[in-house]
Amino acid sequence: MKTEFTKRQLRNSDTQLANDILRRCVHCGLCTATCSSYVVLGDERDSPRGRIYMIKEMLETGAAPDQSLTTHMDRCLTCLSCMTTCPSGVDYMHLSDLARKEIETRGHRPLKQRFIRRLLSETLPYPKRLSLSLTLGSLARPFRSLIAKMGFKEIVAMLELLPKRAKRTAEFKGGGIARPRGPQLKRVLLMTGCAQKVIRPAINDASIRLMARQGIEVVISKDAGCCGAMDQHMGREKEAIDHAMRNFKAWQALEDDDPIDGIVMNASGCGTSVKDYDHLLSKQKGIAEEVKKFTDKVFDISEFLIDYDLRTTEQWTDLKIAVHMPCSMMHGQRLTHQPFELLQNAGFTVMALDEPHICCGSAGTYNILQPEIATSLGTRKAEHIKRVKPDIVATGNLGCLTQMSHHSDTPVVHFVELLDWAYGGPCPEGVEHLQHRVDRLKTAETGH
Ligand code: SF4
Ligand code: SF4
Repeated sequence: MKTEFTKRQLRNSDTQLANDILRRCVHCGLCTATCSSYVVLGDERDSPRGRIYMIKEMLETGAAPDQSLTTHMDRCLTCLSCMTTCPSGVDYMHLSDLARKEIETRGHRPLKQRFIRRLLSETLPYPKRLSLSLTLGSLARPFRSLIAKMGFKEIVAMLELLPKRAKRTAEFKGGGIARPRGPQLKRVLLMTGCAQKVIRPAINDASIRLMARQGIEVVISKDAGCCGAMDQHMGREKEAIDHAMRNFKAWQALEDDDPIDGIVMNASGCGTSVKDYDHLLSKQKGIAEEVKKFTDKVFDISEFLIDYDLRTTEQWTDLKIAVHMPCSMMHGQRLTHQPFELLQNAGFTVMALDEPHICCGSAGTYNILQPEIATSLGTRKAEHIKRVKPDIVATGNLGCLTQMSHHSDTPVVHFVELLDWAYGGPCPEGVEHLQHRVDRLKTAETGH
């Protein structure tokens, strides 16, 4: 794509980056076919190519982002499906980050939108605030129709999605070290996230047990927190950098004590962001090398375990598991087979869903901010689940887990919970009614 930035404009490093990205696009439009928002809305302006044109125009003219650009960028799920489809290697992720930053800093949003976005940014990344808001949310739930009449469809969407507080409380709380069973073979940092700690702490517990059982020492920093992805996707770059810097310093302090073999992520949305910290923190002076050292060691838990010598279990269950690969895992981190293989090796019957490249509609805060499109995508995914009739759906990101649990009748869990179960841990929350199928098989095998 031909661009027409002036030399003066190109002195700005953000504009220079945008120019490099834009010039790779050859307008072929292949990305439209796999774009989740275009599939639902069918409007070129809701496709990657359409957005790229609008971003280019806004940046070249230097005009403030207009309503049209804001609307169509807000409808983008940041699923990054366009990036795995694009034959020219267009870096849509960083281009959309730049556009969102422009919209946030120079655009105009109605007061209500600004309020909702601020509310999310000030609540979701902070476990204590989120915990309080879950309590308040459960009190407000019966008043959804009144809130809808007041025009707060986003608050209604939030209330609809609010998971009931996890029945199980966290086994591992705060920071600390989980010692491995037997000799220590590896030492990793586990990023336990922010919302996940409150909404489904069982994911962290299962990850810790699973790794410790395999001889991996798991270190959790009490000072690390939200990865910053949510703020980044809302164009709040400064807040995203603050979150990233705090995590970076927390990890540095821990690595000073004893070197680590990896930073393990069990929420793929966060993993995509943390793997990109070297880009996000590239303007922070004097730390580039050190940050790169850390980002090179970031692994999704499936990526880490696949190269690890997990024991093979007997065929211990007849449960059928449909795997929903989160977009952040498939497109953001280009991981494709790891959860399938791990589950298969653990003795499950594993199935894929149709249209794996299409987003479930979760996309961070998307199902709150764009509830209609998110519902359409969530329903579409639920139809695919219904078609293959699995006993359980397994995924790798809390957002997808929440969204699909809302739209599908089939129980949805994180795949590490299933692996932990297979290798000796407890039955995951929400699928206890299936425990008898495992027990029955064991009884048939052992005779007692
Ligand atoms: S990130 Fe997803 S929704 Fe956004 S333009 Fe790319 S494919 Fe479409
Ligand atoms: S597939 Fe790539 S090159 Fe083609 S229009 Fe989309 S972004 Fe541009």
